[in-house]
Amino acid sequence: MSDQAQSLLIIEDEPQIRSFLRASLAGQGYRPIEAATGQQGVELAAQLRPDGIILDLGLPDADGLEVLRRIRAWSDAPVVVLTARGQEQEKITLLDAGADDYLTKPFGVGELLARIRAALRRTAASQAGAAPVVEIGALRVDLAHRQVLRAGVEVHLTPIEYRLLAALVRSRGRVVTQRQLLLEVWGPEYTDSPHYLRIYMQHLRHKLEDEPARPRYLLTEPGVGYRLRDE
Ligand code: CA
Repeated sequence: MSDQAQSLLIIEDEPQIRSFLRASLAGQGYRPIEAATGQQGVELAAQLRPDGIILDLGLPDADGLEVLRRIRAWSDAPVVVLTARGQEQEKITLLDAGADDYLTKPFGVGELLARIRAALRRTAASQAGAAPVVEIGALRVDLAHRQVLRAGVEVHLTPIEYRLLAALVRSRGRVVTQRQLLLEVWGPEYTDSPHYLRIYMQHLRHKLEDEPARPRYLLTEPGVGYRLRDE
């Protein structure tokens, strides 16, 4: 990594939220860039090539999905979407279209920074070749050797359980939609079968969590998908 500050483009029409984001990000050593409209956001993204993008879904001049598609046409920068309550379906559509994560307003600084760190790490990991061993709390997952340890004891997973866990490990800290998990673990013909996911998530929680009914690692994002805790 270079010692230059990472730049983050904020595409948000509300001045108060923009200045809150600018102050929070600058305070953590990021370099914020601001756009007040979708059009300006697409232009600045192309000109300045930011390391990451924060995209508000409620822009007066543009549809969030259209903005994301125009950016994704040539950019692989991580995109974190800002949504209001009641934009559930739009949020899922954007995640499936290549957004990395989302935050529902109102959100706190801690949550914002955690989402951004996880999103930026995705790009860093794919550039560096992902770390084969990931430790989260008492869990240790060795992706190169397909080995899972819980508090130092090897856990035996079925092939599907392992593929599901590995998909979440590769996206750790970020939400993964039900559709993305079904596609990656079971294949395209299963994207309308969320019950598979629920059943195998239960199996995984029983093997990996101290209290499967109150998971600490394998978190549910209601109505959207799942997230593996990471910090
Ligand atoms: Ca807005």
